[in-house]
Amino acid sequence: MTTDRSMTPAEKLAQKLPLPLKRLADLAYNYWWSWTTDRVSLFQRISADEWERCNHNPVGILQTASSERLTELTEDPFYIKQVKALVEQFDRYMSERNTWASRVAPQISREHPVAYLCAEFGIHESLPIYSGGLGILAGDHLKSASDLGVPLVGVGLLYRQGYFHQRLSDGGWQEDYYLDNRFEEMPLELMTNDQGQPITVELEIRQRSVKVQIWRTQVGRVSLYLLDTDRQDNDPIDRWLTGHLYGGNQETRIAQEVVLGIGGVKALEALNIEPAVYHLNEGHAAFCTLEIARLTMEKTGKSFYDIEASVRDRCVFTTHTPVPAGHDVFSSDLMDSYFAHYWPTLKLSREQFLALGARRLGDPWEPFGMTVLALRLCRTANGVSELHGVVSRKMWNILYPDRPENKVPIGYITNGVHAPTWTAPLLCDLYAQYMGEDWAEHLLDPQMWAKVDAIPDEELWERHKILKARLVAYTRSKVKAARQNRHEDHHRIQAADELLDANVLTIGFARRFSPYKRGHLLLRDAERALRIFGNANRPVQIVFAGKAHPRDEEGKRIIQRLMEWCKHPSILTRVAFIEDYNIYTGQKLVQGVDVWLNNPRRPLEASGTSGEKVCFNGGINCSVLDGWWCEGYKADANGKGLNGWAIGEDANTSDQELQDRIDSESLYRLLEEEIVPLYYDQDANGIPHGWVRMMKESIKTNAPLFNTDRMIADYVTQVYAPGCAADVKPILASLPV
Ligand SMILES: *Cc1c(COP(=O)(O)O)cnc(C)c1O
Repeated sequence: MTTDRSMTPAEKLAQKLPLPLKRLADLAYNYWWSWTTDRVSLFQRISADEWERCNHNPVGILQTASSERLTELTEDPFYIKQVKALVEQFDRYMSERNTWASRVAPQISREHPVAYLCAEFGIHESLPIYSGGLGILAGDHLKSASDLGVPLVGVGLLYRQGYFHQRLSDGGWQEDYYLDNRFEEMPLELMTNDQGQPITVELEIRQRSVKVQIWRTQVGRVSLYLLDTDRQDNDPIDRWLTGHLYGGNQETRIAQEVVLGIGGVKALEALNIEPAVYHLNEGHAAFCTLEIARLTMEKTGKSFYDIEASVRDRCVFTTHTPVPAGHDVFSSDLMDSYFAHYWPTLKLSREQFLALGARRLGDPWEPFGMTVLALRLCRTANGVSELHGVVSRKMWNILYPDRPENKVPIGYITNGVHAPTWTAPLLCDLYAQYMGEDWAEHLLDPQMWAKVDAIPDEELWERHKILKARLVAYTRSKVKAARQNRHEDHHRIQAADELLDANVLTIGFARRFSPYKRGHLLLRDAERALRIFGNANRPVQIVFAGKAHPRDEEGKRIIQRLMEWCKHPSILTRVAFIEDYNIYTGQKLVQGVDVWLNNPRRPLEASGTSGEKVCFNGGINCSVLDGWWCEGYKADANGKGLNGWAIGEDANTSDQELQDRIDSESLYRLLEEEIVPLYYDQDANGIPHGWVRMMKESIKTNAPLFNTDRMIADYVTQVYAPGCAADVKPILASLPV
């Protein structure tokens, strides 16, 4: 028998569970369950109310469940069978050695895995340490790496309060608030040594020593290590270093990036993990290159310039930002106060050190750029869609003045989504029936996806309608709760029960309300929009969700305008806004809508992934040709969309007014002339065969490409495998020595 101290949290939890349910503890501590078809009922059956209250956190619900309720469940043969079957599936998954990666990339070994560093991870709504697209992508990256058996560990930060939550006031103004994460009640394990003491690493930040502890969460076969400075022996200010995601000013930002980059490398070392490759997912983690250099110098006694190439050999970089202002830069003052003690350990002068992050050498006012540092010290760099690759090469040509733009060493790997996470269980079940039980193991195979054609229209439409009805019910309950919170009058609260209609053409629009995403493009000609949405015979409805960054006043004004529009008498039941967008709401939306609308200013959407999630559920994209949709959209010889719609055209102008007019006109025209007529062309049984044909095209053409299994395969073969290198010349030659 192990002593209490050396017991894992899962073992402790198992102790309280009745025998037939003991293994639920193992499932609860591994997010693998969240992408099984059983995810809907497995933990929810314990108590539907409690499940809601604890934000679908399986550890939370098991910890609080009464033993009466737990033993009650053990009398239910169906539940016991479900748990047993799932545990068997889990054990098979975890012990499988014959994986894709073991066959295709045996050179990436378990002893020397890939370390994937990112400032946020969106694994599940119960682990709220993500803000949006970057985090969800990182979460999906880990899940597919697990499914394919790629030896990989994640490294991130464990935020005490995560990203802000959103509530809308009476006037439609966004109010921000934070909630505490209680780590002990989450699927997290604090990493400890043989004596049961937390393993920590020490960093010097702002002339103070800061101790960082390490938590682990399991994502299938992949471990995600999360760094946390909230320890009693740290200065109260430093305990908040990992308090909020993207919350503070430049000062907290650089401190957090020190924890992630330098702390991340130290933490892996403390855990005896020796990565073969460090993948910097976005520039936030770029300081890790410095710590890898420092460690290598310490071990070899060589100079920075002697080991520089070996650092580059181990680091790869993905950039996500198509606008210069989106890249982190720090002033030389900030760099002085955070790194004056550090550059001597690299045996570099201040000038040599600052030059590592300077776009132009020899300019004393040039700030320190994280993307610049990453591009200089990584052997490969890539954008996240074909178009984003082009944009990135243009943007960073300045670092490679002797090369033409198309020779700038930045490639691209288009983002995807983790299919089992984002596909509704009802459709997973249908795919299993028509494409084979193991459909999720052959996501890259277009021939398998072609079997979607064998699904009878009626069956696909029926399941889609169920999912749409689910979205309608979910939206009503969310809107009703929000109106109650705002103490709106009784009639308004009751009216939430009449919102939306599962028979009506339903559009989804959910994303960050950043001005470039043009959340209100649809309202540009408000009268015309009202005619489309308020049409009595062929109405249209739309569900919005999304947050504006707390400091983004313009984004907040866009939300306010949408909330105002929701109150227009002729569309009262046709427009809804769901507050506090998160992964769960995202799933309900992408699984329930007919059309996914995306109208960013081109080319500012690096990739976008929410439209990809929609495809797996038979939804159809209506989007500006930006990001991934440039590659996904297919049209016939007459320019008519086959698997979705393309909004507007690039007028190649800096006149935003003009571009907005072109795009909104095009959007109205598409809705009036193509989308609405196609949807309402239904047979006597209410089946829109033309529409269903397009749903199938959307699935067949997009699903094999825009999934993270394809993306991981690309990373493994084009980036992680040894020898993959962009021909970047050493920086030695161009630096002041
Ligand atoms: C997929 C997803 C995103 C990414 O959205 P894009 O606008 O496509 O980049 C953001 N937030 C949540 C909750 C998501 O599920």
